[in-house]
Amino acid sequence: MYRILYAGDLHAADTAEQSPTRFKLHFQRLKKLDQIAIKYNCSAIVQVGDLGIYSRSSAVMEYFVQDKELDDGDDRYQKALAWYFCDGNHDNHQLINELYEGETRDSAQSLLKTRLFHVPRGGYVKISGVSHVFCGGANTPENCKVLGEWWPTESITTNEINRFYDTLMARRPSVVVTHDAPSRVPAIALGVRSGDRSNNSCVRDLENVYRAALNAKRHYIPRRWVFGHHHVIGEWRVGSTTFNCVGVDGQYTILSG
Ligand SMILES: [Zn+2]
Repeated sequence: MYRILYAGDLHAADTAEQSPTRFKLHFQRLKKLDQIAIKYNCSAIVQVGDLGIYSRSSAVMEYFVQDKELDDGDDRYQKALAWYFCDGNHDNHQLINELYEGETRDSAQSLLKTRLFHVPRGGYVKISGVSHVFCGGANTPENCKVLGEWWPTESITTNEINRFYDTLMARRPSVVVTHDAPSRVPAIALGVRSGDRSNNSCVRDLENVYRAALNAKRHYIPRRWVFGHHHVIGEWRVGSTTFNCVGVDGQYTILSG
C-alpha cells in the first residue's frame, strides 16, 4: 500500500531580494504541500519539474536549506517527507549540475544535503516501495524564451532519451514521471492552442519511447504516467496507460495503490 503526492509546476524561483511577496508566496505553497501530504498520510512528494531551481537563494532552495537547519523538536522537521523531482525547462540546469558536487548522475541525488532529491533523465528510484523512472526536460516555446534565462540543456538529448528507454525496459516501473508528455496525450486536453504537439522534438521523443516500448519483443506498457509543464490538472486514459497532468502553483494529485 502506498500513497504519494504528485505536485505540479511551482516556479518557486524568486529570491527574497527580487520579490519579498513572491518569495513568501512560494514558501507558503511549499509548506502547504508538505502539510497536505502529511495530512493525507502520503509517504513522499514527487514534483514533475519547473520546481524553480534557479539560484542558490531561490525560494525553493531556501525552503529546503532552512528546513534542514530546524531543530529536531520542530514538527515540520520530524515528519518531513522526501521530495523527488525531475528538471523542467525553467530550472537552471547549470546550477543543478553544480549542486551534484562531483557525484555521478545515476539515481536520486540529494541537493545541498537536504530532503530534496533530483532524479536525472533516465533515472530509476523506488519511492515507498513503488518503482519510478524519471525523464525531465522540455522545449520552451520560442516566444517564451527570455534572453539570458534559458539553457540549451532544457531539451532532452539523444543520449538521455536512449537512457530513459533503456531504464524503462530494464526496470519496467509502476510509475513514469516526465516534465512534458508524449503526443498521445491530446493537445486539446492540455490546452495547446495550435492543437498540434507533433512538431515539438521532446514530445516526439517521449512518444517514440512509448511506441518502442510497446512494440518491443518483451514489451512494456506503462500503467501510470505523471507529468507537468502544461499547467492543467487532469487524468486521461489512453490505451492501457493512465496519464496525469498535476497542475501548477501548488496543485497536486494524490495517487495510491
Ligand atoms: Zn515546463
